[in-house]
Amino acid sequence: MKKSDYLDRWNSAVQSNYGTPSLVLTKGKGLIVTDADGKKYLDFLGGIATNVLGHAHPAIVKAVSQQINTLGHVSNFYAHPHVVELAEKLKSFTGDSDAKVFFAQSGAEANEAALKLSRRTGRFRVVAAQGAFHGRTMGALSLTGQHAKREPFLPLLKGVKHIPYGDLDALRRAVNRRTAMVIIEPIMGEAGVIVPPPGYLQGVREICNNTGALMVLDCVQTGMGRTGDWFGYEYSGISPDVITLAKGLGGGLPLGAMIALGACAYLFQPGDHGSTFGGNPVTTAAALAVIKTIEKENLMVAAVKHGNYLLQEIAQMRGVKEVRGAGLLIGIEFNSEIATQVMIEMRAQGVLVNAATASTVRIAPALNVTAAQADKFIIILRKVLSDVK
Ligand SMILES: *Cc1c(COP(=O)(O)O)cnc(C)c1O
Repeated sequence: MKKSDYLDRWNSAVQSNYGTPSLVLTKGKGLIVTDADGKKYLDFLGGIATNVLGHAHPAIVKAVSQQINTLGHVSNFYAHPHVVELAEKLKSFTGDSDAKVFFAQSGAEANEAALKLSRRTGRFRVVAAQGAFHGRTMGALSLTGQHAKREPFLPLLKGVKHIPYGDLDALRRAVNRRTAMVIIEPIMGEAGVIVPPPGYLQGVREICNNTGALMVLDCVQTGMGRTGDWFGYEYSGISPDVITLAKGLGGGLPLGAMIALGACAYLFQPGDHGSTFGGNPVTTAAALAVIKTIEKENLMVAAVKHGNYLLQEIAQMRGVKEVRGAGLLIGIEFNSEIATQVMIEMRAQGVLVNAATASTVRIAPALNVTAAQADKFIIILRKVLSDVK
C-alpha cells in the first residue's frame, strides 16, 4: 500500500488534531527510517527527542522481547524487578538519598503528578514560563505557556501565572509564600530550543528557597543524556525539588517519571495518585536498556561532541541568525521565517527535522548518531539553505 492510500485512510479514521501527517513510516534501523513508498530518510528528529538510541536498537529489542515473553503487565497492586531497579537508577542519578519516583506514560502525566504533588504543600498557586511546553492534558495545559494551545480550552486551572523565561526579576515578583511550585524547562524545547541566561537556574533555586515554593524542572525533553547529563540541569550545580521525565526515558516506549527529592519525596500519601500502566514491566525494561546502553557506550560524551561539532558548522551557514542548544538538542534560527520551507526541502532531500517556530528548525537526533551522519546532515542543510529564498 502506498503513502497516499494510508493518508486517505488516516484522514477518514483518525482525528484531525494533528492534521495530515507528512510521511507514513514503515521501518527504522539506527537513524535511518523508511517510508511506505520505500524512500529512506536520515532521522534528525528522533520521534521528537525520544528515540535516544535510534530505531530498533538491539538492546531495547532484546529487553522488550524478553520481558513481554516473561511478564507483560502486573498493575500497581504488585511490584516487579524492573520497576524497582529503574527507580533506584533514577534515584542514584539525582544524587539525593531521599528521592522517590512515580511512573507514568508521558510527559503530560509526569507534570500532572508534579502538579498534584505540589497541592500537598497546602498551597495551589503555580508560576510557569511564557512559551513553555508542559503537555496537553488540562492540568499540564494550564502550565503550558502558549496562547494558541490554551485559548480554545479556557478556562484552565486557576492560580497559574506565566512570566517571561530567563527573567529572574519577573520571577521574583511573581513568586511568594503562597506559591506551591515554579515549573521551568532547563532549555525550552518546543518554544524553539531557548537556552536561559547563565545563572538562571541558580536564581530560580534561590527564589524558591526564599518562598518555600517547590522548584520543578521539566526535563522531559532535555533528559536522558540528550544535553550531556541525565536531566539537563546538572551543569548548574543546583538540585530541584521535583524532576519530570518522559520522551527519551523509554527509548521509544511510552514511559514518564516524576521524581521528588528531599522532603518532597514524602508528600504523596497512599491513595493520592495512580496510573494503571505506570512502571509497567515492558516499558521499564526498555528504560533500563536505554540507561545501560548510554552508560556502556558513553553516549552522553558522544552527544556533547557531535552537538558541539554541529553547532560550530551550522553557525557558519548562510541565512543562520543563531544556532543554540546543548548536546543534541539544537535550535537553528534563520534570518527570516523559512523554517517550514527548510523542513520540507530537507525532507525532499532525505533528512527529517522539525520547524519548532516559523523561523527556527529543531534537531534532536539519536545520541548514537555517527560522525558520518552528522556530516551528511551538514552537507544537506548547507545545500538547502543555499537554495531556499
Ligand atoms: C514533549 C514535552 C512534554 C509533553 O510530553 P507528552 O509525552 O507529549 O505528554 C512536556 N514537557 C516538555 C518539556 C516536553 O518537551
